[in-house]
Amino acid sequence: MAEFSGFQTIPDYYGEKVFSVKTMKNYLSDKAFKSLSATIKSGGKLDPNYAGEIAEAMKTWAVSKGATHYTHWFQPLTGGTAEKHDSFIEPDGEGGCILEFSGDELIQGEPDASSFPSGGLRPTFEARGYTGWDPTSPAFIKEGPQGATLCIPTYFVGWHGEALDKKTPLLRSMKALSKEIDRLAKILGIKAKQPSYATLGGEQEYFLIDREFYYQRIDLVQTGRTLFGKEPAKHQQMADHYFGAIKDRVIAFMEDIDRELWKLGAPVTTRHNEVAPGQYELAPIFENQNLAVDHNMLTMEVMQKVALKHGLVCLLHEKPFLGVNGSGKHNNWSVTGPDGKNWLSPGSNPHENERFLIMLCAVIKAVDEYAELLRAAIASAGNDHRLGSHEAPPAIISIYLGEQLNDIIEQIEKSGKAKATKEGGTLEVGVDSLPTLPRHASDRNRTSPFAFTGAKFEFRAVGSGQSLSGANIAINTAVATVLSDINDELEKAGKKNLNKAVQKVLQDILKKHKKVIFNGDNYTADWVKEAKKRGLPNLKTTPEALKAIRTPKIEKAFEKMGVLTKKEFESRNEIYQETYETILKYEADLMVDMARTLLIPAALDYADGLAETIKNVEGINKTKSTATRDLLKRVTTLTEDAIAAADALEKVPAGATVKQLAAMKALRAPVDQLEGLVPAENWPLPSYAEMLFIS
Ligand code: ADP
Ligand code: MG
Repeated sequence: MAEFSGFQTIPDYYGEKVFSVKTMKNYLSDKAFKSLSATIKSGGKLDPNYAGEIAEAMKTWAVSKGATHYTHWFQPLTGGTAEKHDSFIEPDGEGGCILEFSGDELIQGEPDASSFPSGGLRPTFEARGYTGWDPTSPAFIKEGPQGATLCIPTYFVGWHGEALDKKTPLLRSMKALSKEIDRLAKILGIKAKQPSYATLGGEQEYFLIDREFYYQRIDLVQTGRTLFGKEPAKHQQMADHYFGAIKDRVIAFMEDIDRELWKLGAPVTTRHNEVAPGQYELAPIFENQNLAVDHNMLTMEVMQKVALKHGLVCLLHEKPFLGVNGSGKHNNWSVTGPDGKNWLSPGSNPHENERFLIMLCAVIKAVDEYAELLRAAIASAGNDHRLGSHEAPPAIISIYLGEQLNDIIEQIEKSGKAKATKEGGTLEVGVDSLPTLPRHASDRNRTSPFAFTGAKFEFRAVGSGQSLSGANIAINTAVATVLSDINDELEKAGKKNLNKAVQKVLQDILKKHKKVIFNGDNYTADWVKEAKKRGLPNLKTTPEALKAIRTPKIEKAFEKMGVLTKKEFESRNEIYQETYETILKYEADLMVDMARTLLIPAALDYADGLAETIKNVEGINKTKSTATRDLLKRVTTLTEDAIAAADALEKVPAGATVKQLAAMKALRAPVDQLEGLVPAENWPLPSYAEMLFIS
């Protein structure tokens, strides 16, 4: 209880490690404060005249929190975060030092960053990369065991301004989307009170296992997932873990991460046991997308760090254990308009509903038209193991609307108008009100990759270990592109014909794109067939998805919205393909190593012991030990299979990923069977049953 430090309540320490608007007020002059808080609120350019004063204030605050260093914190294309620390010290020439932090150092950094993937964007002769301060995401303090570091969120670009990271295109896509939202607001006569922005709440799934077991599993340590392992007899069949009472050791970890994240101003709020044993979830309250992405990156980092303190390891891989559910991230997406309202929330009057229906149809069109892009945005070696295996949506991108909303949509499609389901009269978009939609429809679908859940869309195919930026860049860009066309059309129609024009636009969209709507069970084989009939893409693997997005349509959307240039787009495709191949290659190599040096020797030892036993026992009994001989035969056959499969896997050339996956499967099968035969004490790896049930 002492940890509660005099029973501090959450507001006492919430955000204490953040140079927030509230905090900076105490450190800045009125003028500098006004300038910076305006930039934070509207995302506009900061007056460079105040940079020096802001840097000084940040330093003073950070030093008071124990900081000795600062770093530009950025998100390179590796998918993680990066930091390089510099101290504040400046020798004073008399054998002492002072602490300095200049405006220039705040605004721009030049990390020696030539080793980050750039996908051909930076030939070595111009290998410089620059980090630039993102004032819209507040600076924060990271504590180490002996000190602290001031972290400044930054974007990362090359010499010519080409985006080398995930934040730059995210910010660009947010800007493109908010521009189109503001345009639509103007068309609809909605008064602007504030800048519009995309919102995001990212639910995070993860596994916890005991640290001791983790270090005994070289596959987990090196690849984040188990490359071998026999399914335990009991895992998630009884659904007795989901929402179950949380064990003490786990809740201690959860309490710790919540407190750490609250100090960092990350509004985490929900925690519970997930479906698989050893699996859990954490969810925040939604925020401005840029902040939410940064907070999720921090969350993943804090989770891993705090777990170690509790003798645990937090696994963020999408599929750490074969045969039990993998982990994802639910990307809850919406838009707050210039009126300060959620534009995906069905309203209580006709005008709010007009706005809502346009947004809804824009998303429907965007998801259908850019399905390949959404699929590619969540593609990774890890996530491929999860998608479509009865625990996560298939690789087919479709939308779930729910019965009532679907009914309304169908009516609009038929007549350009929607009938109020309750009153039975005719309802005209922009003139009448919609029937009240229940926020939580009872038939809430859990199998859809892109579900409307009351006042937001939930993209459920994101992988647990991925940065949320990719998915949001894709959604923002797709929706902004579609809205841009809608706005063109509505502007052309003019104020007088607005209602008619809206109805026509919506009707056209639904006629053409309703094929992407599916309200049934996405996990069934029937849906896969049906989707094929509808012509929806089913891109099962990362390479297929990465190939499918190299189209002029997608390239143009990125360019038109100012999110990625052709070169930037190509660089990403190249990097992600290479990353995929690299992961498969080292997983394959490690499997061969583990099979040859750990697992096959254990099986051979056992076979040897069995042979010896048979000899001895038969010598005494003077009868054939038939069953034991059968057992020996099985062990020997499987071992022979494993040796041959390891040899075959080793021979698959790098880059032949389909063959590699098949050969990995072929090696895993006999080895996992051997795990069920060899005495547990002789098997060199902790079992799934041991790892998945924390005590
Ligand atoms: P569920 O319907 O999945 O139980 P919740 O209402 O608890 O959902 O929300 C799940 C996540 O969606 C939370 O992180 C929540 O903050 C987020 N969310 C809610 N409203 C929005 C919104 N307008 N924009 C983005 N995310 C939102
Ligand atoms: Mg959810």
